[in-house]
Amino acid sequence: MTLTFDIDAPGKHYGHIRLPHSADDSAWGHVMVPIVVVNGTRSGDTALVIGGNHGDEYEGPIAIRHLIDAAEPETILGRLIAIPYLNTPAFMAATRTSPIDGVNLNRAFPGEASGTITRKIAAFVNDHLIPQSDLIIDIHSGGKTLDFLPMAVSHILDDAEQDHRCASAARAFSAPYTARLREIDDTGMLDGAAERAGKTFVTTELGGGGTATFQSAEIAISGLRRALAFHGIYDWPYAPRPSRALDLSDPDGFHFATHGGLLHPKVALGDTVEHHQPLAHIYDINDMQTVRKAIHAQRPGLIAARHVPGLIKPGDCAFVIGTDGGPLDFT
Ligand code: ZN
Repeated sequence: MTLTFDIDAPGKHYGHIRLPHSADDSAWGHVMVPIVVVNGTRSGDTALVIGGNHGDEYEGPIAIRHLIDAAEPETILGRLIAIPYLNTPAFMAATRTSPIDGVNLNRAFPGEASGTITRKIAAFVNDHLIPQSDLIIDIHSGGKTLDFLPMAVSHILDDAEQDHRCASAARAFSAPYTARLREIDDTGMLDGAAERAGKTFVTTELGGGGTATFQSAEIAISGLRRALAFHGIYDWPYAPRPSRALDLSDPDGFHFATHGGLLHPKVALGDTVEHHQPLAHIYDINDMQTVRKAIHAQRPGLIAARHVPGLIKPGDCAFVIGTDGGPLDFT
């Protein structure tokens, strides 16, 4: 696994992470992950910005391509490492997981240099890029199966100093919502790998449904610039935007379908709901005499995410309900 250029050379470099992948159609072949590194003319920290960790999420790739066009050695203080579509095979197939090995990159960390291709990508990031980075921003959206209120996210961390750094960076991103959560299980996630290494880590959920909108792309583009400017890596006038606090730390906020069928939503993203309120009805597709099943709110709060496809199956995440914490201060 190698970079196609010298990462320490001054200037702006367009190239690839080259990962060996010997396949039926390419005996001595490689998977090439596009990467741009900008070494600033002024000293400073290193930022690693990642899109396309999941291949069916588009705000990150758009924002990072936009940033790559704008970032020059004169405007970067320190180093910018920009990877618009980290799981390149998945991005090219427009799928969440890799079409080559079926692995979800965000469940493959810390990776394995001798593993399948997705584990190699994770290992390169884990072993070579995370250690040299100070600020890591991994831009996600809901993909083809979820849609989210646009939010920047920091995790609730045991180390108070690191927790504050991450929360401040998420606030600086200034998405319409700034969420706090504790992962149910961060095994294999880039998030946990970055946080356990002590880094300032921000992730996002900026929409979904398998496409970007004009609004979600703008939130990603401006948010990424703001977070970099706040950290002092990008010479750009930092001005936070209004954002509302969103608490997603309650496990009861996550609603998983117990039946499959035709999904009839009864609430919309951003609605405030009561405890036990019906969120959706599910119709059995074949048995039209069976009474429809309902998904009821397990707690009151704000609809922060919803299932997208018109069909749902048992185990699918149907809704996420959080707590609207009101307007955030500019800190
Ligand atoms: Zn994702």
